[in-house]
Amino acid sequence: MLSYWEQQSFIRYDHIVIGAGIVGLSTAIELKDKYPQQRVLVLERGLLPTGASSRNAGFACMGSLTELLDDSQYSSEDEIVLLYERRKKGLEILRKRLGDERIGYKANGSYELISDTELPALEQMDYLNRLLLPITRQPAFKMANEQIQASGFSASYTKAMVENTCEGELHTGKMLRALTDYAIEKGIEIKTGAEVLRFEEEAHYVAIFLKHDLRNEELVLHSDKLFICTNAFTPQLLPDEDVVPGRGQVLITQPVQGLKFKGVYHFDKGFYYFREIDGRILLGGGRNLDFGGETTAELTITERIQIDLEEKLHGIIIPGTPFLIEQRWSGIMAFGATKQPIVKSFSPRVYGAFRMGGMGVALGSEVAQQLMQLIV
Ligand SMILES: Cc1cc2nc3c(=O)[nH]c(=O)nc-3n(C[C@H](O)[C@H](O)[C@H](O)COP(=O)(O)OP(=O)(O)OC[C@H]3O[C@@H](n4cnc5c(N)ncnc54)[C@H](O)[C@@H]3O)c2cc1C
Repeated sequence: MLSYWEQQSFIRYDHIVIGAGIVGLSTAIELKDKYPQQRVLVLERGLLPTGASSRNAGFACMGSLTELLDDSQYSSEDEIVLLYERRKKGLEILRKRLGDERIGYKANGSYELISDTELPALEQMDYLNRLLLPITRQPAFKMANEQIQASGFSASYTKAMVENTCEGELHTGKMLRALTDYAIEKGIEIKTGAEVLRFEEEAHYVAIFLKHDLRNEELVLHSDKLFICTNAFTPQLLPDEDVVPGRGQVLITQPVQGLKFKGVYHFDKGFYYFREIDGRILLGGGRNLDFGGETTAELTITERIQIDLEEKLHGIIIPGTPFLIEQRWSGIMAFGATKQPIVKSFSPRVYGAFRMGGMGVALGSEVAQQLMQLIV
């Protein structure tokens, strides 16, 4: 039961966004820019954002050589170029909006370790460079074999190394903190611990139903428009959408003495990724070891994948160097039949932007801009 005062001042909004990840926050910021006088509210089910945006590896990802070649088996050239362009544009928006220092953006380089069986991919590097040139204006990929020995990677695994000239890295925590602060500075309201159970469209508003355990009742907010930015968790609200959760597991070491590399790295078609951060190694991936088990929205870790990650540290990344693991965690990504994100109008009042795959850091800000184009 609401009080008169609550009913008057806390229930009605012009725009409600569900999800306080990079897409939800960017959408709220775009809305406030477009409609500065209107009330914008973000609802987040967790006390902290609880999906992928605060739990990822912080690569400003464009796609590695083998990953883009892999994509080309089931995407057209136009689709590959378009997605690359959208990631590039998204990263530009994010960097301009928050500034490199605030998000810990660094251009320390991005590289892919090429194994024996992947060597044929090098023959297609010129083709991909030509395909992407209208967007990159410089070759996206170039050989960097001279760095293999200097970086200390296993020579028996790393038969070649390719530099990706367009990728960078950022500090995921600083970025999401800065995006949240930026949204609050603009006058956007954010409520955490606010899980949306369902929504119903009425003639003149959308009714949004939230859990309200303390009062043992549902709270119903009214909004002129609703924006669903819930990525892997979208099927709870929109069960017909092609969204499948995919867990990503990560570990970080304690500082490693004499670490020889900086920057961000991929191997095995992007299924593994690692970087140097604060003298430590952050390593994630291994979903391809157990696709069935990792098709889950559970924020837990498994022994099988964590052991595999440690083996990759021993065998490929720092062979012969002792290390200790400081922390392990997981986050949930969203996949579907294609790698294209879903940006959609469900009605003149209900919109959605979700299914960011493993690339939302660069893509998220652009997707939010696309969503604005759909508003009636
Ligand atoms: C381990 C890992 C590593 C990754 N590494 C990279 C990388 O290096 N580079 C890169 O570009 N991308 C990476 N990604 C992917 C990237 O993090 C995602 O694509 C991006 O964060 C998606 O952002 P989002 O806002 O769409 O989703 P999310 O960040 O998942 O945000 C959705 C939010 O909605 C909330 N929510 C869901 N349902 C409800 C509800 N009913 N009510 C209220 N709130 C709700 C969730 O709690 C969540 O906070 C990685 C992902 C993982 C898991």
